[in-house]
Amino acid sequence: MQFKDIVGQRDVINRLTEIIDSGRVSHAQMILGDNEDGSLALALAYLQYLCCTDRQHHEGGELRADSCGCCPSCKKISQLVHPDLHFYFPNAATSRVKDKPSSADFQGEFRQFVEENHGRGTFEQWLDTMGIENKQAEINVRDADDLTQTLGLKAYEGGWKMAVVWMAEKMRTDCANKLLKTLEEPSERTVILLVGESDERMLPTIRSRVQTIRLHPGGNHHQAEDNEEFGPLLVEWLRLLFKLKMKDLAAQVDKMAAMNREQQKQFLSYTLDTMRECFLHSTAGLPCHLHSGDEKFDAQFPKMVTVNNIEMINAALNDTIFAISRNAYAKIALMELSFRMSRALKKR
Ligand SMILES: [Zn+2]
Repeated sequence: MQFKDIVGQRDVINRLTEIIDSGRVSHAQMILGDNEDGSLALALAYLQYLCCTDRQHHEGGELRADSCGCCPSCKKISQLVHPDLHFYFPNAATSRVKDKPSSADFQGEFRQFVEENHGRGTFEQWLDTMGIENKQAEINVRDADDLTQTLGLKAYEGGWKMAVVWMAEKMRTDCANKLLKTLEEPSERTVILLVGESDERMLPTIRSRVQTIRLHPGGNHHQAEDNEEFGPLLVEWLRLLFKLKMKDLAAQVDKMAAMNREQQKQFLSYTLDTMRECFLHSTAGLPCHLHSGDEKFDAQFPKMVTVNNIEMINAALNDTIFAISRNAYAKIALMELSFRMSRALKKR
């Protein structure tokens, strides 16, 4: 998982990468936000960036830094097979694990759950994956023991030792109390990320020992305003990318270039977020918020953004944001972007 795969949250992410780059990594942090807004995805992208051996920096881009996505460490973390990355999550007895269940018994299921839902699966979807719909699932004291013991060992790869506790609000009190000691006296080069939807049910002693990062609901706190402001412009432009009638497209580009640079960058960031939403809609069935006033278009367009073209679309938009922040001639940059987007959309 890379930061670029996450919808919105740009200010949160830029602050996180800055902290990692400065070497002031806090050993215990809590990421709070709806599962569907990508709190777990953010935790994974964060750890991937932390361990990446070739961090990428983009001055002036909407994302100032990201992991490379291709070094051995990035690959292991994105496939959830890094030997120093450990997951804890609510669990319960099943037909397979009849007695004393713990997270260790469900690692395969959890990996499947994260992959299938792109790190944005809900608690209900997790219960479904485990096959325990009607039972209570909790993070229990065996999980706390396992976490403490595992993080006390030497790192396999000699780098960071990492634990993610997903749905941390589902920790039983005895588990939370055990975990406290580890949070107070962490061993060297250790990061514990508590990921949850709400900290209301968490012990105050836990809350006071972690640094809290809050996600903006709905991906982006400007989303609603942006939808109103940029939505119609985006949809008009997308339609023209399929037809490629030069005269109409040139008129549309003129309209986009008439905004000031800051607005152009905001429009392109909004487009990036919308394309990610379309991608997650076409691949994972998550909701998408295109509102063109034409139901057929709103239903059809998201299917055009697939695993075959999302990278091209992301690259085209990021390059243009960068060019515009470097004072490139907007009409040319936006026309070139239109051609790249048009080619990419045909590659679905
Ligand atoms: Zn990397």
